[in-house]
Amino acid sequence: MAQNTYPCPCFSGKLYPDCCELMHKGKVDTPTAEQTMRARYTAFCYGNIAYLVDTLHPRMRRLSDSFSLSRLVKKTRWIGLKIIEHTQGDKADTAYVDFVAFRLEHGEIKQQHERSRFVNVKDKWFYVDGEDLPDIKLERNEPCFCGSGKKFKKCHDTLAGKIATD
Ligand SMILES: [Zn+2]
Ligand SMILES: [Zn+2]
Repeated sequence: MAQNTYPCPCFSGKLYPDCCELMHKGKVDTPTAEQTMRARYTAFCYGNIAYLVDTLHPRMRRLSDSFSLSRLVKKTRWIGLKIIEHTQGDKADTAYVDFVAFRLEHGEIKQQHERSRFVNVKDKWFYVDGEDLPDIKLERNEPCFCGSGKKFKKCHDTLAGKIATD
C-alpha cells in the first residue's frame, strides 16, 4: 500500500503524511490524547510496533510486548475507526478516549468498543488501559465507518450478510 497517497487509516480525512505520520515521527510537539489514540490505531494498521510500545505507559510495559503486539497486528485486519468522545479526566494529566475500532474476522464485522485511559507524562500521552464497552448500533443511513463515503447500508452492511433494500 502506498502510504503517501493513501488517506490516513484513522479517517481524519487527511493523508497519512499530514496526519498520523507526524505523530509516528515525533513531529507533533504536544499531541492530544485523541491524536495519540488515532496514531496508535494507524500504527496497528501499518504494523508500527515501535510506536505502539513507545506510547504504552512505561508502568504497563512488559518484555513480551513487541512479540504479542506483532502477533496481534499480523492476525487482525482493521477496517475502520470511529472516535465517539474525547474527555478530560478529573485530573489534568488523565484523558479518556471512547472509540470503536472495526475489524474483519471470517467475513464478519467485529467491533472493539473501548474507553481508553491515557495519562500525560511530560507533555506526552501514554495509553494505560481500557474498559470494554458493548458494541454500538450502526445506523444504516450514516456514512460507513470505513471512510468509503458511502452510506453504511450500501457498504459494509452488505458485507455483514445483509442485503441493502434501497
Ligand atoms: Zn491519522
Ligand atoms: Zn464500508
